Amino acid sequence: MDVYKALKTYFGYDEFKEGQEKLIKAVLEGKDALGIMPTGGGKSLCYQLPAIFLDGITLVISPLISLMKDQIDSLNEIGIPGTFINSSIDDKDLNLRLQDIRKGKYKIIYIAPERLNTYSFTSLISNIEISMIAIDEAHCISQWGHDFRPSYTEIPKFINSLPSRPIVGAYTATATKLIVEEIEQLLELKKPIKSIIGFDRPNLFYQVVKVSDKIQYVIDNLNNNFKDQSGIIYCATRKAVESVAEKLNSQGFKAVAYHGGMNSNLRQKNQDDFIFNNVQIIVATNAFGMGIDKPDVRFVIHYNMPQNMEAYYQEAGRAGRDGEPSYCTILYSPSDIVKQKLLIQNSTFSEQRENNLYENLQYLVDYCNTNDCLRNMILEYFGEISKESNCNNCGNCLNKSEMVDITLESQKILSCIFRVQERYGMTIIIQILRGSKNKKVLNLSLDNVSTYGIMKEYSENTLREIIMTLISMGYIQITADKFPVLKLTNKSGLVLKGLEKVFHKKDLLETKASHSKKFDKKDLPECFDEELYEKLRKLRYILSQEKSIAPFMIFHDSTIKEMASYFPQNKENMLNIKGVGQKKFESYGDAFLEIILEHCNK
Ligand code: ADP
Ligand code: MG
Ligand code: ZN
Repeated sequence: MDVYKALKTYFGYDEFKEGQEKLIKAVLEGKDALGIMPTGGGKSLCYQLPAIFLDGITLVISPLISLMKDQIDSLNEIGIPGTFINSSIDDKDLNLRLQDIRKGKYKIIYIAPERLNTYSFTSLISNIEISMIAIDEAHCISQWGHDFRPSYTEIPKFINSLPSRPIVGAYTATATKLIVEEIEQLLELKKPIKSIIGFDRPNLFYQVVKVSDKIQYVIDNLNNNFKDQSGIIYCATRKAVESVAEKLNSQGFKAVAYHGGMNSNLRQKNQDDFIFNNVQIIVATNAFGMGIDKPDVRFVIHYNMPQNMEAYYQEAGRAGRDGEPSYCTILYSPSDIVKQKLLIQNSTFSEQRENNLYENLQYLVDYCNTNDCLRNMILEYFGEISKESNCNNCGNCLNKSEMVDITLESQKILSCIFRVQERYGMTIIIQILRGSKNKKVLNLSLDNVSTYGIMKEYSENTLREIIMTLISMGYIQITADKFPVLKLTNKSGLVLKGLEKVFHKKDLLETKASHSKKFDKKDLPECFDEELYEKLRKLRYILSQEKSIAPFMIFHDSTIKEMASYFPQNKENMLNIKGVGQKKFESYGDAFLEIILEHCNK
């Protein structure tokens, strides 16, 4: 059997994804491999497929214990025998597995890095042949990444202790140059064949929207675009998580919450319900996501601003692992940025760290305010040079917002802050500008200030929005001693003197409607039959419940979509559907054929 045949027979795919073939061939020629591919790029297949061909066992080192069971279940579903060893299994179970490994029952073993140099494992290893060691999430070896795992640094010691050195492959989605170099060095890779694919996730649609009523927007958006489709809503606080989840449930959606303050059993249950499609939506803090491999997340909404670009890329990146079109939305509000700035300011970090945090936050603020291609902004952040100026698949490329000049408004506000000697907070400044007769304003004789009443025609809300926008852009500083005070910055003078103009996206300044647009479903073939699709999805769900595995382990959404577009009515045609391999056909083919035939007859 050649690799193409194996790809079809086991995985049900006709073609490799970018980079896969090169890495697989390297391994089969006995060479080390280094694969840098974005999330959803198909890294697992790069070591799972060669494992079928290698004589001995392929050992997969993975930090994500929670994922191992899913990965092994998926492998067994396609007829590749595997097992895993980590702290979630008890001693009795462990001994059974070790026995089976000795008997040669498995081709692939997943193992947590902490286990490698334990006695029970090293003594097992001395009796079996290991052909390959695949190191998944290889960036965990680097102290510079955010997921550093000390036990990863023990991997070279383990490899060197083996009687003969197996092929070593390292795989990650983290592509900063420094980290890639470190991976190669620290893992002592030997002239690895490399495949480095950039950060772009072409199937993700990015947008930033500003709405007056966020929850209403989410509800509309779910109804318009994501009926019964899985998605994640990220919120900044536990309180917001609870409240959004509750509101969605009261509107008839199936949503669960996930945050660090919850009972861990309940949290685990909610996560499982999400992965098994028992619920549609998970509302979560940024505690959620590490070790989630759910391929069919169709939308990620940031109800509040993420912390920085790197976090955003990770969180939004949990959408669309399966390569199907998916949507990433930030619900922009300048007050979130102000809150984050205050948090940084009130922290006890060193000045350098603080500046770093500000800088990172500022990039995200610029992302929200720009009128340029959002995809390119993301790629540039990671040091990638974008190929085109227009990606045609982001909110800005599809719908250029008008830019409005708010220099005059900014000047009025800045000079008001100047006139009162930078002594007051936002509320008072707004009251002065609007000429308020508030007692406090009058008692302090602020009605004598020359900027009193010069912005009467603006509503309080609008002024608040503009001021927060100016803070987010760095024209005003907010400092908190006892209470937050507005001060000028070194950029303010330029605006006051008319040397610099301030522009703002019209879409972000006006917050009239909360409606959500319907996305056009350009991705579906014309012959797609939605009714059949729903029937097949229902069947998949029932089968998954019977077998206690996640629905995506039976067939991916894209596979079911193809079935509902090309109506395969016999084994041969069924095997032509992307994602239907030999073993999957044996397990599920007849059940799906039956529904398709019945539907077609009707
Ligand atoms: P990564 O680990 O790089 O984030 P995965 O290995 O989890 O990505 O794969 C992402 C998805 O892509 C999975 O759903 C997998 O089944 C699918 N996939 C992998 N290789 C192919 C291929 N050659 N053709 C189509 N789909 C593929
Ligand atoms: Mg992976
Ligand atoms: Zn774009």
